Amino acid sequence: MTTTPHQSPPPRGRSRPDADAGSVLSTLNEDGSRRWLKPRPSPGRWLNRRRALGWFLIALFTALPHIRVGGKPVVLLDLTTRHFTILGHTFLPTDTLLLALLLLGTFISIFLFTALLGRVWCGWACPQTVYLELVFRPIERFFDGTPGRRKSNVVQKSALAKPLKFITFFLVACFLSHTFLAYFVPTEQLRVWMTRSPFDHLSSFLVMAVVTGLMLFDFGFFREQTCLVACPYGRMQSTLLDRNSLIVSYDPRRGEPRGKGKTVSLPVAGAPSTQGDCVDCGLCVATCPAGIDIRNGLQMECVHCTQCIDACDAVMSKLGRATGLIRYASQNEIDGSRRRFLRPRTIIYTILTSLLVIAFTMALLAAPIANVQVLRVRGAVYTEIQPGVIANQVQVKIINRLGRRAEFSITLDGHPDARAIPETNPVALEPSAMQSVPVMLTAPATAFARGKLPVVITVTGPEGKPISRKYVLAGPGNAVRPGSTPAPAPKETP
Ligand code: SF4
Ligand code: SF4
Repeated sequence: MTTTPHQSPPPRGRSRPDADAGSVLSTLNEDGSRRWLKPRPSPGRWLNRRRALGWFLIALFTALPHIRVGGKPVVLLDLTTRHFTILGHTFLPTDTLLLALLLLGTFISIFLFTALLGRVWCGWACPQTVYLELVFRPIERFFDGTPGRRKSNVVQKSALAKPLKFITFFLVACFLSHTFLAYFVPTEQLRVWMTRSPFDHLSSFLVMAVVTGLMLFDFGFFREQTCLVACPYGRMQSTLLDRNSLIVSYDPRRGEPRGKGKTVSLPVAGAPSTQGDCVDCGLCVATCPAGIDIRNGLQMECVHCTQCIDACDAVMSKLGRATGLIRYASQNEIDGSRRRFLRPRTIIYTILTSLLVIAFTMALLAAPIANVQVLRVRGAVYTEIQPGVIANQVQVKIINRLGRRAEFSITLDGHPDARAIPETNPVALEPSAMQSVPVMLTAPATAFARGKLPVVITVTGPEGKPISRKYVLAGPGNAVRPGSTPAPAPKETP
């Protein structure tokens, strides 16, 4: 059994045989074959709370891509255009600073959250756990029966139980794959994919089929191994948790030495006795979706689903003993000390998270209303369009950063007679839309010194500050006659 460095002192007594295997994962037999886990659900107050939250989250996960804030989806990670919309704000690939602050802030707050509350995300809110435990396992139990109990309904007894189970899995996987894709593909586009023939959009159909297949593989076959071997968050637990983090813990001081068939029961936890409270019924192991024995201490596989708490509380209640032999507690609390909320890592994480939130908010508020880029057009560096009037051709690339349709005008400053003549003016853009506008910049030939004229191209939106870009027009030098040898191209302003 793999354990983290924070493992509690090993309890006396034995658990299930493979707990002593040493190096075998809870989902593997010692010969390397798959150990299929069929956890038995344990009703109780924690399961009720998880169910209530889980169904709320399922509704939320399904609805989020369809909810609009200011005309934009709450979440849309459009990979094809590389536009990431979060809470109605669209981040563009050029928003490197904002995206870096957002990612860093998210990571540090996860560290803080984990240091305080352990793997509460894994057991309570991760879509993998929520869909597996609340949707796929109940479906499986409906068709296969509950482990350790007789097959109770006609479906379970029928030969069609298995095919019906897989058909149901497939239908749910189809639904989930569409929900998942709605986070990456605009919902209007997804609707078109769903309603048209697959032959009209074969590549998109293949994407949908592959995602459905992956869902089926994950929830039908791979299951808890995703948390065990694929999820990086689970692997980092040993570094993120400490002895004050809140975790699901077994109390060995109260439970050990464990034993079956006791005749002496302890009405109060901690009362002197030669026998511990654990009756070694194994229910906490039978109910564990990670296939571990919590009595062996904190383990990497534990997703803190609290099922063992419910199982053990039910046993203790039946025996007339205090509940909480397995409970939410830090390792220090289990060892008899106090749980410290403030400690170096939580203080540092809190400071860092606060700084990142402030920096992100300031960067967001200072973000311009549009992204503007000026690009020189290939070809002649300059032309003389009329006697004494020099023209440079550029492309002005504008991305609308306002959350609504807006018009942008382009002007040129730097010389009283300098003019910007855009192909379209003003330029009307939908939210987050981009347009490259060909613009002719003109200035009198006499304004150029050594073949250059510094100017400022300004893009003005409906509100907010104008966005200016410095640019150097190319033209005839003092010693060069207009239209003869073009001056070397001055550098572009990014
Ligand atoms: S459910 Fe409780 S009493 Fe039963 S084996 Fe687990 S810890 Fe011991
Ligand atoms: S040990 Fe308990 S909390 Fe951890 S995964 Fe198993 S049942 Fe859930």
